[in-house]
Amino acid sequence: MAIELYSNISIQQALAWLYGKDALGPCGYDGDLGEPGSDSYCRQLIRRFEAEYGLAVDGGVWGWDCQRKIAEVLTNGVQLTPHFNSAELGCGIAVSDNDDPAIHSTNCLHFPEMINHTALNCLEATRCDLGSGIQVTSGVRCPDYNASLSGSSSESLHTAGRAFDCNAMGACSLEELLEIGLRNGFTWGYVGNGYVHLQYTGSGY
Ligand SMILES: [Zn+2]
Ligand SMILES: [Zn+2]
Repeated sequence: MAIELYSNISIQQALAWLYGKDALGPCGYDGDLGEPGSDSYCRQLIRRFEAEYGLAVDGGVWGWDCQRKIAEVLTNGVQLTPHFNSAELGCGIAVSDNDDPAIHSTNCLHFPEMINHTALNCLEATRCDLGSGIQVTSGVRCPDYNASLSGSSSESLHTAGRAFDCNAMGACSLEELLEIGLRNGFTWGYVGNGYVHLQYTGSGY
């Protein structure tokens, strides 16, 4: 399977991770980037991204040059929230992940999908409520990597950047971590073999 270019919503999520949600303009996550070549908030942001990262600046069109670059930047590590860095959340680079290219989708690039802001904010809130560190053992996954894991569902929200497998590094039991996660915005979860799966299925991006 091959990963496609991000949806407009995912492009807006990527831009918001770099420049803040307010930079998307008053419409926020609306899935509308504006006309190519126009001065809409999103087309201007894409051009800013291209200029800052040494890409050819065009009409603000999101192409593979942009997607490869954002994946590289996030793989190298961007502090997304006070306690979580993109380098610990990518496909094949989170703690328990396998980075053998043979099992990843073409153009996975560690970020086959954007990390959902609301979901990561739930994890940040869980971390703050717990009061100590949370280790993410698996974050976003491409479809082929996800399928390689025993017992995984093709509908897994890991492939949507909305689920995290994690542990509290001994600070509390997995059952307690699940409970803390569910009271901090995650909509569902379960205790797995040595990890807690937490996911967010709400309407927030
Ligand atoms: Zn992958
Ligand atoms: Zn999981």
